[in-house]
Amino acid sequence: MPISKLYQVTLFTYAAARHREAVLVSACFLGIPCRGYGRRAKRCDTLLERLKKKYVLIPVCPEQLGGKPTPRSGEHLRGGTGADVLDGRLRIVDSTTGQDLTDFHVSGSRYTLEIAEFVGARRAFLKGGSPCCDREGVTGELLRRAGIDVVRVP
Ligand code: SF4
Repeated sequence: MPISKLYQVTLFTYAAARHREAVLVSACFLGIPCRGYGRRAKRCDTLLERLKKKYVLIPVCPEQLGGKPTPRSGEHLRGGTGADVLDGRLRIVDSTTGQDLTDFHVSGSRYTLEIAEFVGARRAFLKGGSPCCDREGVTGELLRRAGIDVVRVP
């Protein structure tokens, strides 16, 4: 499922209207309750205020973009990194149900990269500890391979 045209136009209009560089930010940092159990991440208000003065913040949640629902069970990268997943050496499996969730993570990461390319983002501030958003996660790795500077926010 490609990113909808409406979403692309919205992102483009938003970024263009602000005349500032666009950067990606993990959506849960911005107060969007997209984490596994529908909770918000601990807000980094100091960081966000600093970023807002300089950039246009584009929220992305790779897991939701990949089609995972919220709430959802949480899983971790076990035995490797996002690079291993992208290169087909590691699968991401739900530790409770045994469901293979690799495709959700990979497709959500690709949509995130698509958004980054659309808005011209060269930098991403992503949440550490997530199988997608961490700098070593699937999305973090995919963005870095595309030359985007990924900053891990703990
Ligand atoms: Fe937050 Fe990223 Fe996890 Fe989405 S995938 S809930 S943005 S850490």
